[in-house]
Amino acid sequence: MTVTLTRNRVFISFTPFLELKTLILFLFLFIFSSIVTQPIYAAPENSTLENITSTTDENQYLTSKKHNITIGILSQTPRDSIKNTPWQFSFDRLNTQSKYHFTPLFLNSEELADALMNDELDFVICDAINYLMLEKQYGLLSLLTRTEQYSDHYVTSEGLSVHTLSTNPDITRLQDLKDKNIGVIDDKSSVSWLFLEKFLFNHGLIAGTNIKISPIHDINEAFSLLQSNTYDVIISKSGILAKHLSQDEINALRLINPRRGWQAPFLHSSVLIPEWPLSKAWFIDNKLASQVVSLLLNQHNNESNNSHSYFSPQYYWDIAQNYNALNELFFFSNNIEDATDVEQSSISQKIQYWVSFIIICFLVIILILYLRSSRDLNNKLTLSKESLEQEIKERQHAQEQALTHQAELAHVARLSTMGEMASGLAHELNQPLSAIHTYVQGCIRRINMGNTDLDAIVNALKLTAQQADRAGGIIRRLRSFVRKGESHKTYSEINQIVHEVTGFLETQLKNKQVELKLELEEELPPVLVDIIQIEQVLINLLKNGIESMSNIDKPVIIVSTRRSSHKMIKLCVIDSGHGISEDKLKRIFNPFFTTKTSGMGMGLSISSSIIEAHDGKLYAENNTEQGARFCLTLPITEEQLGNNKNE
Ligand code: ADP
Repeated sequence: MTVTLTRNRVFISFTPFLELKTLILFLFLFIFSSIVTQPIYAAPENSTLENITSTTDENQYLTSKKHNITIGILSQTPRDSIKNTPWQFSFDRLNTQSKYHFTPLFLNSEELADALMNDELDFVICDAINYLMLEKQYGLLSLLTRTEQYSDHYVTSEGLSVHTLSTNPDITRLQDLKDKNIGVIDDKSSVSWLFLEKFLFNHGLIAGTNIKISPIHDINEAFSLLQSNTYDVIISKSGILAKHLSQDEINALRLINPRRGWQAPFLHSSVLIPEWPLSKAWFIDNKLASQVVSLLLNQHNNESNNSHSYFSPQYYWDIAQNYNALNELFFFSNNIEDATDVEQSSISQKIQYWVSFIIICFLVIILILYLRSSRDLNNKLTLSKESLEQEIKERQHAQEQALTHQAELAHVARLSTMGEMASGLAHELNQPLSAIHTYVQGCIRRINMGNTDLDAIVNALKLTAQQADRAGGIIRRLRSFVRKGESHKTYSEINQIVHEVTGFLETQLKNKQVELKLELEEELPPVLVDIIQIEQVLINLLKNGIESMSNIDKPVIIVSTRRSSHKMIKLCVIDSGHGISEDKLKRIFNPFFTTKTSGMGMGLSISSSIIEAHDGKLYAENNTEQGARFCLTLPITEEQLGNNKNE
């Protein structure tokens, strides 16, 4: 986008840069719309809750399983006994406090799915992610969430911690785990392997491809395995290592990608997800479910004084967490590490987050574009200002040069006029000099004759002095005429200038027998002019006029002045010569145009530029009767106009 500023408008024109902006905008809109319009969750095609309901006889299950209740427990390691597992005390309570017999069945995730498919399990205990998948497939319903007590905290979420030896400089980020040996503590606290896989995958790590993962079944060995370099890092359920290792051992470890999650008292490397749920199969009625819930929920209050070893950690059951939030996180986002903790996540929060993100991006782009365009505009303005200043300087310089040049030309022209008028001047000087000579001779003669009439001699000497003054005046006028002058403007009477010049040319006019008529308007306001230059123009015009009438009978030349308008004074020199033909009329003001054998062709050109420098105009035209007229205009200054008004 280009912004162009003129005096009172702003033009905005679009350039290819706009296309880039539009592209970015559309890209954002596309990302936004694709996020918003993403299906919330499409149930798997083979979702079987309805199918199962329609193909099975509910009563049959309720009766056959009346006294024996099976709880499937996810375990990667095959197990026979509930003893020394985190679930032991839950089973103890269920079996002692209810009329049913609860049997644990340790199964891996495939076996769990198979058993659910065959409706062999009444309840299921598995990690949150497996639960989500089984819930969709087999209609599980979460009742309770496993809770762990950390002094005053009850933690209902789990995360993963990645530890390495603090002396190991190679691993500082999760990405550094590539091609490393990873030990995963898979003891009775039951790590969620699906969560682990997803977590590693989000950092470009795939077991068996670019990392090697091995389970560590005994947490006691973890530290020594790290020290012996069997493993480069150890991954565990968050909080487990800190609880189990000695302070020295903990100090010797470094947590990679440390982050703090909601309600968790420990640092962890991954996002937190809800702890394992206890869920019921689709066919378990609410009565039985609520009995199980009330037994396990009360367990904490009744047994809080019991001490538990690490191998039977202090796990309780709490009301079920919102697993749907994890559902959104897990199925919407390819990168669960980008999300906030699961408990805080929800669709509206995600949409809000994205909307604000897009708006901020949009605003940032607008801001950048605005700054760019205003910077471009500033640059352009600065550039054009600089070039304007440069141009003004150059013009001023050229004008100064032209004025100097013009003054020099005028001077040369005056000198040439002087040369041409030398004989006339000699004649003019001759008169006072002869008179002086005569008066002085007369005085001498009288003295020699003894005529001592002093009055007569003094009178003669006075006349001599007058003639000497006259000669001195002629010389002074000549000197001032030929002086090399810079342009020097003063307020002058135009009629006075006319008198000066015609007086100066008197001899020439007489010699050529030209009759001079002055038609001068009285009381014209003074004009601001360089007297010498205007005199020069008038001399040029008069000389040209005289020359144009060289073989004319009774040549007459008229000089007129008048106020041609409110702001202008006009002076015309009108001759009765041959006039100027049309084609010459166009060229007479061009430099070096002359029709005279000894002419320079500079007179009118110089005169015209002198008058223009005085903000006036010089033009020529033919008279209707005979001859030509050259007229010039000169402005009356504002100051003089003001004076006139006041008067
Ligand atoms: P120059 O007098 O040296 O020729 P000018 O610039 O003064 O140079 O005059 C240019 C030409 O204009 C003259 O040669 C003449 O042909 C023409 N010209 C000037 N004044 C008159 C006039 N009053 N009548 C006729 N022609 C004129």
